[in-house]
Amino acid sequence: MKSIQAIRGMNDCLPEQSPLWQYVEGAIRDTVASFGYSEIRTPIVESTDLFKRSIGEVTDIVEKEMYTFSDRNGDSLTLRPEGTASAVRAGIEHGLLYNQEQRLWYMGPMFRHERPQKGRYRQFHQFGVEAYGLAGPDIDAEVILLSASLWDKLGIKDNVTLELNSLGSNEARANYRDVLIAFLEKHIDVLDEDAKRRMYSNPLRVLDTKNPDIQAVLKDAPRLHDYLDDESKAHFEGLKALLDSVGISYRINERLVRGLDYYNRTVFEWVTDSLGAQGTVCAGGRYDGLVEQLGGKATQGVGFGLGLERLVLLVEALAKTEQVKSAVDAYLCPMGEAAEGQAFVLAQQLRSQLPGLRLMCHCGGGNFKKQLKRADKSGARWALILGDNELAEGLVTVKDLKEGSQLSLPMAELASHLEQR
Ligand code: ATP
Ligand code: MG
Repeated sequence: MKSIQAIRGMNDCLPEQSPLWQYVEGAIRDTVASFGYSEIRTPIVESTDLFKRSIGEVTDIVEKEMYTFSDRNGDSLTLRPEGTASAVRAGIEHGLLYNQEQRLWYMGPMFRHERPQKGRYRQFHQFGVEAYGLAGPDIDAEVILLSASLWDKLGIKDNVTLELNSLGSNEARANYRDVLIAFLEKHIDVLDEDAKRRMYSNPLRVLDTKNPDIQAVLKDAPRLHDYLDDESKAHFEGLKALLDSVGISYRINERLVRGLDYYNRTVFEWVTDSLGAQGTVCAGGRYDGLVEQLGGKATQGVGFGLGLERLVLLVEALAKTEQVKSAVDAYLCPMGEAAEGQAFVLAQQLRSQLPGLRLMCHCGGGNFKKQLKRADKSGARWALILGDNELAEGLVTVKDLKEGSQLSLPMAELASHLEQR
């Protein structure tokens, strides 16, 4: 019979990859904890309208990437393509936002129907943070600093660059929109289908086109920075000063507009040239209008989303990963029938004495050679050998599988011996 395969672009994380994922996820958890952020978990499926209303109808995600289906009641549901909309929805629904400050984080799978390639999948994972109810540039700087702390922790800070821009207030963008549309109309012959379709509904999106002909024309386009309102300018200056104060360098990229409609003022991306075409590892910004747009009382918001697959690829390629541990520290090998019965009990004693120890107990019998092979394969550092001879003398042999050395010691000393390693 033909076997059934996973859905294209949706990956299994196999046992040999999961230690690296756990290491990266652990670094994320440590980082958010050190900034005092709280976790929020929301459903993977939401009403389709939530994403249409927040991300914007004329965006890549809503136009062509969402996994949308009718459920058995005929309601239109969508597998979440990103995390911010759900966080805002939950915040409004449970009264977490109005007149309050929140610093939240989430991690989990997202779904977009894109062409699968390295660093771009149909089910992928994002870690994100969202801060609510804070208006100043200090919180923008904090979420950027939080991401920078993560690069530091993972040993990749020299391989990512921060790009920064300000989109200004809604009014400033509306003024700029008009002059940008007028400019694009003058160059209509150069625009491709995408750009033509977007120039009236969402002209800023034309600025981050990947089409080189349009890029060439855009060199002479009016600049958004010339239209920024004074408050947004002051906000941007404040942010830059705070980043300077903690030694985070950045590159101003006036073309950076982000693919989602809800951003205002600060937008940023962390990019790398170590991943080929999918160079954006982390992206975010301020979205002061979104809460109101989704039916809540006006509340400021700022946050970012980070692609875990791209981060894992980066760490794998660039960082020292000695800290990445296999799933097993010690592998207990009972040789002979009496030892087998004992080993089961001994293993459980060790687990309760040493809660940090990851101990695997051999199952299924077999000779010394076979059991040691299994011990090696488990990735354990130590094989704990319990033969009938050892058993008679109350001893256990500890073999260091990395160095090859071994010693026998009284069973009662085993726990403290392992603890010292
Ligand atoms: P891109 O320009 O690469 O399509 P995007 O602007 O659509 O990215 P965001 O919606 O800002 O991406 O998502 C934040 C991050 O999530 C991205 O910077 C990236 O690291 C990751 N990401 C987005 N789409 C995918 C995907 N299909 N597969 C893997 N990671 C993704
Ligand atoms: Mg995209």
